[in-house]
Amino acid sequence: MNEYDLIIIGGGVIGASIARELSRYKLRIALVEKEAELAFGVSKSNSGIIHPGTQNKPGSLKGRLCVEGNRLTRIIAKEVGVDFQAVGELICAFSDDDIQNLFALKKQAEDIGVPRLEIVYKPWLKINEPNLSSEVVAALYAPTAGIISPYRWVYDLAENAARNGVDVFTNTKVTAIESGKVFTVHTTNATFESRYIINAAGLYADDIARMVGIDDFTITARKGEEFLLDKKREYIANHLLFPLPTKTSKGILVIKTSDGNPMVGPTAEVCESKEDLSTSDEGLAKVFASVRRMIPAISERDIIAYFAGLRPVAGEDFIVRHEDRVPGCITVAGIQSPGLTAAPAIAVMVVDLLKKNGLDLKKKFFFHRHRQKTDHLFAIPFNRTKQLIQKDPEYGDIVCRCEMVSVREIKDAIARGARTLDGIKFRTRAQAGRCHGGFCTARIMKILAEELNVPIANITKRGMGSEMVVKERT
Ligand SMILES: Cc1cc2nc3c(=O)[nH]c(=O)nc-3n(C[C@H](O)[C@H](O)[C@H](O)COP(=O)(O)OP(=O)(O)OC[C@H]3O[C@@H](n4cnc5c(N)ncnc54)[C@H](O)[C@@H]3O)c2cc1C
Repeated sequence: MNEYDLIIIGGGVIGASIARELSRYKLRIALVEKEAELAFGVSKSNSGIIHPGTQNKPGSLKGRLCVEGNRLTRIIAKEVGVDFQAVGELICAFSDDDIQNLFALKKQAEDIGVPRLEIVYKPWLKINEPNLSSEVVAALYAPTAGIISPYRWVYDLAENAARNGVDVFTNTKVTAIESGKVFTVHTTNATFESRYIINAAGLYADDIARMVGIDDFTITARKGEEFLLDKKREYIANHLLFPLPTKTSKGILVIKTSDGNPMVGPTAEVCESKEDLSTSDEGLAKVFASVRRMIPAISERDIIAYFAGLRPVAGEDFIVRHEDRVPGCITVAGIQSPGLTAAPAIAVMVVDLLKKNGLDLKKKFFFHRHRQKTDHLFAIPFNRTKQLIQKDPEYGDIVCRCEMVSVREIKDAIARGARTLDGIKFRTRAQAGRCHGGFCTARIMKILAEELNVPIANITKRGMGSEMVVKERT
């Protein structure tokens, strides 16, 4: 039996943020994730925007946690060595009526504490966003909006949590929970006991809740299709570009990403299945019609990849609460957008709920706040690359030519926990370029097999059932 003070169920951005926040205290903590690696759920397929808080209703939990999450993300990203870029956002108005809506949005955002908002007009837009359509007459400028790599964020938070003593279990699906004096958590891997559990299971938080007898919410999936454009279009926009928001979504955007490729999307459609990650011609048509209103030069010909993500929806707002009927159980559910942004603030809120509900929180004498930043050749100047190659020639052995990823970076990613091709891709960008791994996949599989000391037939794209080769040749 594995005994812990606290078990966090779900290794997305919410579970990883909570794990890192709680790792400041003298607690035995386990983070359990059903997939082969962390960040393989909703946290892998989103827009990577750290929202300023401009499109949230006053009084909503989402709004409060978004503004606070934006502030905390900047601090924690520095501590754990992840790049955060404050690129700023523009919410575009196409008519005088729209301008009135911008003023209303500005007032609403200021009421929940979004700083430094400004309405900007054509002369400003012409200089600062030259590819913007001449139909855009004004915009609400929020300079605190930023971008981050959503998966590297999760990996580096979790790595820092593990450095501070959190045990991370992947391929560990929670199948049943017995609640009594302690919780007995049955999984596909082992049985755990703990005094507290935190349900951060994303799309499946309702299933976990039912295991402890909580059945007052259901998670539905709201699909967002996104289209990634070639890096040669990196500067097609200088800011994140939004139309005015609708009731259910922030609208379809032109997105800058931390990897350089611009992205367009997402759509927002209710989806029957929690596993349906298909994209569609309708989605593509809708996205391009919408973004071309803002940037007419955007073309489908620049698409290099598309994907869909599913927002876990449980009503309008987030659910973050202690379950008084099941003492010791914390629910963090319905974390749709802006969940990536709000994650560090949700983590602080969870710590507070635990404290209020009897968990004795004693700070560790030494908390490893900082994590050594990972070297990525794509992110450093050439003279630094030269220094790295002199230090270790494996930095000069390039595996992924599209994204300039070396053998050393792939081996480092494996040493830090990558076990699958997608795990390597999300950590290093190898296979994420224009050729989609056509050139480098076989070499990465070989490195994975050698480093993990397993047959190449065991190497998978994203865990069991996604093996790449049927049988190794003898
Ligand atoms: C298209 C799209 C765009 C978005 N863009 C943004 C954005 O730009 N900015 C922003 O702030 N937010 C954005 N979001 C929202 C954001 O992605 C989510 O709020 C966030 O990723 C939710 O994280 P999570 O940890 O709750 O969920 P997840 O990442 O899904 O983590 C939950 C984990 O629990 C695991 N799990 C489930 N069941 C079990 C079980 N039985 N046992 C063990 N583990 C289990 C899952 O495998 C999963 O890894 C977007 C979402 C979508 C879909």
